[in-house]
Amino acid sequence: ILDMSLRFIEEDGNDYQVLGIAYDLTRVRQLEKMQKDFVSNVSHELKTPVTSLLGFTETLLDGAKEDPETLRQFLEIMQKDALRLQQLIQEILQLSRDGKNITYDDQQVMLFSFTQEILSSYRKTIKEKNLKITILGADTLTYTTKYELFYPIVKNLIENAIQYSKTGGTITIDFGYKEQFFFMVKDSGIGISTKDQERIFERFYRVDKARSRHSGGTGLGLSIVHNYTELLGGTVTIVSHLGLGSTFTVNLPKTT
Ligand code: ADP
Repeated sequence: ILDMSLRFIEEDGNDYQVLGIAYDLTRVRQLEKMQKDFVSNVSHELKTPVTSLLGFTETLLDGAKEDPETLRQFLEIMQKDALRLQQLIQEILQLSRDGKNITYDDQQVMLFSFTQEILSSYRKTIKEKNLKITILGADTLTYTTKYELFYPIVKNLIENAIQYSKTGGTITIDFGYKEQFFFMVKDSGIGISTKDQERIFERFYRVDKARSRHSGGTGLGLSIVHNYTELLGGTVTIVSHLGLGSTFTVNLPKTT
């Protein structure tokens, strides 16, 4: 807000004072637009699985349920739609946390077993893609942080590294202390062009929509990484080369 006050003397000799307040609306407009875009993206993303669910239930009720094979096939699709809705809702809620109204407790994280546990939930894909995963960080290292924010950051980075790796690829995970605490996830996957690197932290931005959606991606993971890292007072950086792979590093304040 610019507060202006102007004083001048008119020809009639009177002394006038003009008061004016000018608002800098650019930032307000930008925020309004971001909010509108977000709402319209959310509705679009939610509509797709709901429309599919309604279509399949209607077809089943119209008689398709009599054929056991069709029934099974349709139920499987409907389960996928429901899971997608569940994930979208969970991630949208995660994004709406701004840290202002919630206080998170600090917890000591045993980094090695924490990483192994996250990896174990992707055991199936890791095996199918024959990925070679190495954890470089020392197995005795700990980091004290707000777990509810730290966990989704690491989970999303590891999930992406697995998701966007090619068969037989390698993933290297490192963590430790330099000037700050760092957690790094490096993959030898499809990579991200310089142009796309500027946008991947935006909500719902996906380089390849079809590919991301097919593998269950929502385009919200990296915005959560970005927001939560900021809430923890840190930064996230990316180094990536198309076709060669990507390295995401989160730097956070030292605590232990
Ligand atoms: P998604 O749910 O689609 O994975 P994210 O917000 O996690 O959404 O990531 C946004 C986009 O950034 C992805 O759709 C993908 O195109 C790209 N991306 C993220 N991580 C990687 C990675 N490790 N390698 C290549 N591309 C990536």
